[in-house]
Amino acid sequence: MIAAGTSTRRSGSSELWLSATGDSPPASAIRIINDCSAAGRAAAALTPDLERVWRLSSPSRVEDALGVIAADAIDVIAGERDGRLALCASPTCRAAFFDTSQSHSRKWCDMGTCGNRQKKARFNAKQHGSRAT
Ligand SMILES: [Zn+2]
Repeated sequence: MIAAGTSTRRSGSSELWLSATGDSPPASAIRIINDCSAAGRAAAALTPDLERVWRLSSPSRVEDALGVIAADAIDVIAGERDGRLALCASPTCRAAFFDTSQSHSRKWCDMGTCGNRQKKARFNAKQHGSRAT
């Protein structure tokens, strides 16, 4: 699906991408992700606290940072991470987010904004509905 030499079998997350967005990522998006990934020269390093950090090369820090972001995008889209791609349930938002909740049933990109807005709208609709009857 993505590049020559890779498996053509769709991973679980790729299927989720399709179900979340209704379509495959456009070829232009895949090309940009792959180009950014190839241009970056960041190196993963292990800290004494056993955490991964990225070391950016000095002449091309922007390309390196974009390379790290592209590598993350590839991990997510290819299903290398535990979680699922989803679209915010708010009809006015529809932002894509990565759901890492245990049940993988998160509905909103952010509970503090879209989640509260939707709950308020539902509450108000219920109040109007109960007054009208
Ligand atoms: Zn949202």
